[in-house]
Amino acid sequence: MKWSNSHIVTRRDIASDVELVSDALLQKAGFIRKVAPGIYTYQNIALRVLNKISNIVRQELENADCVEVLMPVVQPKSLWDETDRWNAMGRSLLKFKNRNDQEFCLGPTHEEVVTDLIRKDIKSYRDLPKNIYHIQTKYRDEIRPRFGLMRCREFIMKDAYSFDVDKDAAQVSYQKMYEAYSKIFNRIGLSFKVVEADTGNIGGNQSHEFHAVTTAGEDAILLSKSHAYNMEIAPVGELVKDNRSNLLKVSSFDTPGIRTIAELGKFLKVNEADLVKSMFFYDGNKKPILVLLRGSDEVNILKLSKVLDSDVQLMSDQEIEELTGTVPGSCGPVGLDGVKIYLDYSLQNMTNFVTGANSDGVHLKNVNYERDFKTEGFFDLVFAKEGDVCPIDGGEYKQHRGVEVGHIFYLGTKYSKAMNAAFSDSNQQSKFFEMGCYGIGVSRTMQAVVEQSHDDKGIIWPITVAPYQVHICNLDVSDVSVTNFVNQIYAKLSDLDIEVLVDDRDERPGVKFNDADLLGIPCRVTVGKRSFDKGQVELAWRKTIDKESVSVKDIVSVVKRKVLEA
Ligand code: ATP
Ligand code: MG
Repeated sequence: MKWSNSHIVTRRDIASDVELVSDALLQKAGFIRKVAPGIYTYQNIALRVLNKISNIVRQELENADCVEVLMPVVQPKSLWDETDRWNAMGRSLLKFKNRNDQEFCLGPTHEEVVTDLIRKDIKSYRDLPKNIYHIQTKYRDEIRPRFGLMRCREFIMKDAYSFDVDKDAAQVSYQKMYEAYSKIFNRIGLSFKVVEADTGNIGGNQSHEFHAVTTAGEDAILLSKSHAYNMEIAPVGELVKDNRSNLLKVSSFDTPGIRTIAELGKFLKVNEADLVKSMFFYDGNKKPILVLLRGSDEVNILKLSKVLDSDVQLMSDQEIEELTGTVPGSCGPVGLDGVKIYLDYSLQNMTNFVTGANSDGVHLKNVNYERDFKTEGFFDLVFAKEGDVCPIDGGEYKQHRGVEVGHIFYLGTKYSKAMNAAFSDSNQQSKFFEMGCYGIGVSRTMQAVVEQSHDDKGIIWPITVAPYQVHICNLDVSDVSVTNFVNQIYAKLSDLDIEVLVDDRDERPGVKFNDADLLGIPCRVTVGKRSFDKGQVELAWRKTIDKESVSVKDIVSVVKRKVLEA
């Protein structure tokens, strides 16, 4: 492609509120243009990258026996009613009516559509397993789209769905996708970690997220010796129990105006970690629950709801006041009737601690569990953090940040049951399909690559996903012999299926070099009259900034060899 025929428009004037370098670079280099919040146009050079990523995905999924289809963006309400997700999805589902007053939504995901497809097409165990995927535009009406392509409303996703005869077979499908995903992200050139993730209400250890590791990531991930977790679910273990002794007598003291743990810490001149915090919740039956934890920790709702085997909801200030008779900030476990009290593991060895007295502006000191209040026991109820010990492998957690680029999930029969999607097994018994779903954020992945691979001058594309492999800078476009030579090597490289962008603009060398650095094409050939007359051109690599002189007669073969090797 010649630059003059392309539509590559680089810009330096990017809005100052852009939060991520990768977002700024994609805009500056002219890859994307924002149309509305969370909605973008992908320019031609971006589309080339997206197609490369998609093709890597396709190749690896075909190798894993998946079948590509294309399902609709517009989906009827009737399908979503079958799984009760029309309402459960909340406002992220963009709904509308057609001219006949029938209701539809824009597809945020395709479990319903694909389950409907398979229940109509597949009747026998003989036709299983099946793994169906497509690469398509999704729409989710995200509350706060942000970070460029990282969290969009409209984005490109690859979603695959496996259908199997039983759990064991579903495991095999899951494992195949795990391996395919690892190959995909390796080929794309991402540095990534696979972490265990929340399985929602389905249970089992069957959800893995693939995270591109970068400080700009939205998610916290914790890595220990042999395990990696999304911070949401990283376990924290029990402590070795001390023989708690020297329990002192409880007494009260005034804490006028103190409402928060931070204020209490200052008042008592102790660390928040050495204070005990009281947090009130309702379980699914609207029964009050009190969680006690260290002042510096946060209750992990996911963990709490697993312990209670129920939904949980944080109590409002008013509800707390009705229950305890006092404002939040002066509440505590002592003397609370009818409230089940759950303690975090980290309190196991704490003695003589301070809690609210359930009286406005009053606290108690020398409180001790079991002696002063009854408990339901100790549980893992808080978010793990860097330095905590992983109870599974005994390693210390290291915290990293990640961008979730892929997610694989064992679904069981959640959707097949709800939609009555069944096949007949080898004994002519009707059975629900065992399912799995597998997503890759194709457009998010493109930006994750940029976030991991850039310098202060611009993007540095890995050659496997670069919009072009070679960038030829013609520094003397008005010189006939230089331009003829450039056209010649462009034609020869194109014949070798090497993708070339030729900067044939009548611009100063500085402008061309800056744009080339910004665009980030891996291999650069610079042809200028002075060296060309001496039979030389310059070959440079965007990544290493290595430069070498190559003779005009060798340049095509050298580029060919190096591009193939790269
Ligand atoms: P997140 O936790 O980031 O909101 P999710 O868990 O809702 O994502 P999935 O339903 O698992 O996402 O979707 C599969 C993949 O699609 C994700 O791993 C991610 O790469 C991508 N994706 C999801 N939401 C968005 C979005 N709003 N913008 C861009 N990509 C997205
Ligand atoms: Mg996810």
